[in-house]
Amino acid sequence: MSELRDLYQQVIVDHHRAPRNFRALARPTASGDGYNPLCGDRVTVELELADGTIRDIGFQGAGCAISVASASMMTAALRGRSVAEAGELFDRFHAMLTDGESAASADAALGKLAVFSGVREFPSRIKCATLPWHAARAALAGRHEPVHTE
Ligand code: ZN
Repeated sequence: MSELRDLYQQVIVDHHRAPRNFRALARPTASGDGYNPLCGDRVTVELELADGTIRDIGFQGAGCAISVASASMMTAALRGRSVAEAGELFDRFHAMLTDGESAASADAALGKLAVFSGVREFPSRIKCATLPWHAARAALAGRHEPVHTE
């Protein structure tokens, strides 16, 4: 189990050092801001939505390793997804961190995002991991494109 934890930490360190999609979009259609006063993390997520699909996504901001890595991995996971799929991922990710869903079951649904299951052991860092997701959800709930709820 500690080997698995080391692997998870490596993934987070890697995404912190070289975040994916750390950029402003040329044609954003929606954006959302997040701020975590407990840690000082700030993130802005920009989306390019077309036909209910996330065509492009990027983020900017500054924060701790967990918040930056989470934003990096989130943008990689959400590009090309439908708005509905993004909402499902948000729910699964949130449940993994707050409801104690097992890492194995989270793995199946979340893939690489399951590396954040270890954050559950550090309650003060959970908001660091979920911050970019809240910003993305705020962007998706914006007025730029109608949001379809199931
Ligand atoms: Zn943080």
